[in-house]
Amino acid sequence: MSKKTKGQELAEKLTWSAPNIAKEAPKQIEKAKKFCEGYKKFLDEGKTERECVNYAVELLEKNGYRPFSADEKYKPGDKVYLVNRGKALIATTFGQEPLEKGVRINGAHIDSPRLDLKPNPLYEKDEMAYFKTHYYGGIRKYQWGTVPLAMHGVVIKKNGEKATICIGEKEGEPVFCVTDLLPHLSGQQDARPLREGLKGEELNVVVGSLPYQDEEVKEPVKLLALDLLHEQFGMTEADFYRAEIEMVPAVKACDVGLDRSMIGAYGQDDRICAYTALMAEIDVKEPVYTTVTILTDKEEIGSEGNTGLASDYVKNYIEDLADLSGIPVRRVLRNSICLSSDVNAAYDPGFSDVYDPRNSCYLNKGCVLTKYTGARGKSGSNDAGAELMAKVIAIMEDAGVYWQAGELGKVDAGGGGTIAKLVAALDVDTVDLGVPILSMHSPFELSSKLDVLNTYRAFKAFYQSK
Ligand code: MN
Ligand code: MN
Repeated sequence: MSKKTKGQELAEKLTWSAPNIAKEAPKQIEKAKKFCEGYKKFLDEGKTERECVNYAVELLEKNGYRPFSADEKYKPGDKVYLVNRGKALIATTFGQEPLEKGVRINGAHIDSPRLDLKPNPLYEKDEMAYFKTHYYGGIRKYQWGTVPLAMHGVVIKKNGEKATICIGEKEGEPVFCVTDLLPHLSGQQDARPLREGLKGEELNVVVGSLPYQDEEVKEPVKLLALDLLHEQFGMTEADFYRAEIEMVPAVKACDVGLDRSMIGAYGQDDRICAYTALMAEIDVKEPVYTTVTILTDKEEIGSEGNTGLASDYVKNYIEDLADLSGIPVRRVLRNSICLSSDVNAAYDPGFSDVYDPRNSCYLNKGCVLTKYTGARGKSGSNDAGAELMAKVIAIMEDAGVYWQAGELGKVDAGGGGTIAKLVAALDVDTVDLGVPILSMHSPFELSSKLDVLNTYRAFKAFYQSK
């Protein structure tokens, strides 16, 4: 090997860029593929926030977690969880250090963009039956036409019974869809701006085309659809007002690429961080600080409502923990650190214009540390401090985690936010850490298996570190 020049040595010492993991640590490829089998199952089992909570509770119970009780005494290593209204969840492993030294929070969200049914959704038009929808979260509406959709949700019937709906996921079950025009007749539609390619009121889901056999009935196609729903779930039209029903892509998580290096699936924002956070929570046995792993709801619509992080449910939980130690919650919070675990936009070689290549995250370079999000001059952002950046980077480097840093595209190209600012508002040191994603918020998002593995490793190191 030829000797390095002085300049080469100096460059090695002074410059830095995130390496490609597949080139520097190819042994991780197999590990990542193995780890992601569990992740793909998590994606398939949890296509709504409620399903994610149910599956997470199943995994937690299997691993020795018990429901949290504010009346019980806990010792280091004890594992508990709390479910918030079936749509959000907190899990904890009690740490070695007393609570006043702070907790380690890892917050991810389990709601994803989708088409929600309107409160009065079912109608018949020209002998076809449809559901009216109101989209949830930031979607590019044109992407949701001609995609097979599954129907997921719950209905609280008049008698108080809860029916759980899931149609379109099992082999052989019917699916649903939003139709779109054929190119032969789309001349006018093609001239619309892309954001109106399909308009909100055009996102109507095909439900059926056969009539109920009775010539006296005014809307027989709608009636047959209702009859079938009644048969299966005992519900009537009025029960839609007592329901939460989501239409989501009926596609299973799968490997992408000849090399199977990537995962394609719906809802990876942010179940990719939810799964890795949950696995780190389960796998950490004797953490230094008490852990608070949050799988939250409503992030995609601004964290509103009592299952979103703009509510006090996490603060109330930490206050319950503080009460057990007989200290005020503010003393816990001000010594705590939070990873706001959410995805970032991976650099897309096909659309490189919207990225600053020096400040973007890339597939196969590891988890992405995002100092700030926001839009128009960081507005709406938690801008993490240098001290916290140093601490989190040190934790990752000590554990040999592959990480990179990135921001969401070019300045003024757009923007976005996460739960970070809401946790920071509790007087907690907070920074965003997550996974690079291609085609974010589409029905089929793309991630790298190596990045998933290293995000899990980062989260675990965060819980194990001093
Ligand atoms: Mn997200
Ligand atoms: Mn999102």
